[in-house]
Amino acid sequence: MVIIGGGDTGNDCVGTSIRHGCKSVTQIEMMPKAPKVRGEDNPWPQWPKVCKTDYGQEEAIAVFGHDPRIYESTVKEFVKDKNGNLKAVKIIKLVWEKNPDTGRMEMKEIEGSEQMLPAEIVLIAAGFLGSQKYVTDAFKVEVNQRTNVNTTPGSYETSVKNVFTAGDMHRGQSLVVWAIREGREAARAVDESLMGYTNLAAQ
Ligand SMILES: Cc1cc2nc3c(=O)[nH]c(=O)nc-3n(C[C@H](O)[C@H](O)[C@H](O)COP(=O)(O)OP(=O)(O)OC[C@H]3O[C@@H](n4cnc5c(N)ncnc54)[C@H](O)[C@@H]3O)c2cc1C
Repeated sequence: MVIIGGGDTGNDCVGTSIRHGCKSVTQIEMMPKAPKVRGEDNPWPQWPKVCKTDYGQEEAIAVFGHDPRIYESTVKEFVKDKNGNLKAVKIIKLVWEKNPDTGRMEMKEIEGSEQMLPAEIVLIAAGFLGSQKYVTDAFKVEVNQRTNVNTTPGSYETSVKNVFTAGDMHRGQSLVVWAIREGREAARAVDESLMGYTNLAAQ
């Protein structure tokens, strides 16, 4: 198993792969490994930017004896066997460099650092891609640049009258608590729109 993406979803993929009995699991992360303790530029009360080893990675350590993550790397190529099935993944090391023209940090591939990882299944856990286009097209609702369904702030009715939205397709990649809250508020907005008033609780 090769998991592309070192975030929470990637960690879930690692744990799930192990529980399904995978022979090996590797998780590819583009970013450098975070430090064990807060840096001086990351004081309390900021969110601590430290290396987190979550349950999936802990399970990998317990089962295979090592952390499944490979940092500062990305996938260059999927390699197939003569039957067209995936047999390996070619990865390459990355280095972060400041672009002298823009001043922004950019990732550059390190020539000659390619490595082959045997793989039968690859899971991509590298980012929420927004709403499903076939759904937003079917309802003809307006979407924003990130393809989330547009509403006026604090509202749940879309650009199409009587069509409401909530949760990830409204606010983008988020959390269950937000989905619950938005679901309740959207239900309230629907009730109000149908009845002209609502007795549903706001929270
Ligand atoms: C791997 C992973 C791990 C996560 N871990 C966490 C976590 O630990 N904690 C946390 O808080 N959040 C987590 N999240 C995020 C959380 O799951 C989402 O924020 C939340 O589920 C969003 O709820 P939702 O109702 O907006 O959308 P969803 O839960 O995605 O529900 C949308 C539903 O619509 C259905 N659907 C789609 N198209 C159609 C259609 N055409 N017709 C009818 N139904 C349709 C889908 O089948 C789905 O059931 C995780 C997400 C992922 C992917």
